[in-house]
Amino acid sequence: MRLSHVTRIAAATAAAALVLTATACGNQAELGGSGAPAPTVAEDTEFEAGTTMAELNEAGTLRVGTKFDQPLFGLKGLDGNPVGFDVEIAKLIAAKLGIPADKITYTETPSRIREDVIVNDQVDIVVATYTINDARKEKITFAGPYYQAGQDIMVAADNTTITGPETLKPTGARVCSVTGSTPAKKLEEYVDPANIVLFDVYSKCADALRNGQVEAVSTDNVILLGLIEASQGAFKLVDKPFTEEPYGIGITKGDVQFCEFINTTLQEASTSGAYKAAWDATAGKVQPEAPTLPTADACS
Ligand code: GLU
Repeated sequence: MRLSHVTRIAAATAAAALVLTATACGNQAELGGSGAPAPTVAEDTEFEAGTTMAELNEAGTLRVGTKFDQPLFGLKGLDGNPVGFDVEIAKLIAAKLGIPADKITYTETPSRIREDVIVNDQVDIVVATYTINDARKEKITFAGPYYQAGQDIMVAADNTTITGPETLKPTGARVCSVTGSTPAKKLEEYVDPANIVLFDVYSKCADALRNGQVEAVSTDNVILLGLIEASQGAFKLVDKPFTEEPYGIGITKGDVQFCEFINTTLQEASTSGAYKAAWDATAGKVQPEAPTLPTADACS
């Protein structure tokens, strides 16, 4: 079939667009990390009847809520599955339950809906750069922490005026964060309400910074590091963390046995080196020094 001139141009443009998209996605997939070696799936599992562990083992699948747009922690890859440190933590838990990685189903879980997806039984666990705090504990239970981040600020690479949270108000900076996140709340101490810009996901904040709609983005340092890496030199980290953000794994409120099971799994992964391998294959690409697993909180 002969293509008309216009169709040929359209086809060429579409092909070019495809190449561009593929390149962009390729970079993005790399930024999530390649994924650690698949953890060994437990075989002779014996779980007490009636426990969440027994139910999940029996079901043979694990439903995980995570982020899809956060390089290094949870970034959707070309195959549709997310990659990153949070995803590796989910795989370690699944493996201990006797569930292989390819039997995990992922649901994109932006900050604001994390408690809801647990309460509404849409997922079994949420691993999503999820800070443990008392307000959230009223609705859900946290296992962990498995990592400790800190809130920080990201600005354009040539910005010299924003050097810490206390410089945000005097410079009149418009600051972007995400609805339902702890950083959005904390910003109220440092920024006039009219200058706080909230989206549902952090990738939109990165777009707003690139477009000059805001002068700063504020959230956890490790999330910002992923966005900075993806920006190819356009953004930088202020690098003055001003909060503590211990990351937990969200589960159904009051499921103490499952919480303790997850904490034991984390501890074993730390001892075996699987925790470090998970870091090295993901966030470690940008932050080479692997963290030590923080001491677990009591489950309640
Ligand atoms: N760790 C913070 C929180 O749980 C910020 C990161 C996020 O929104 O995922 O709110």
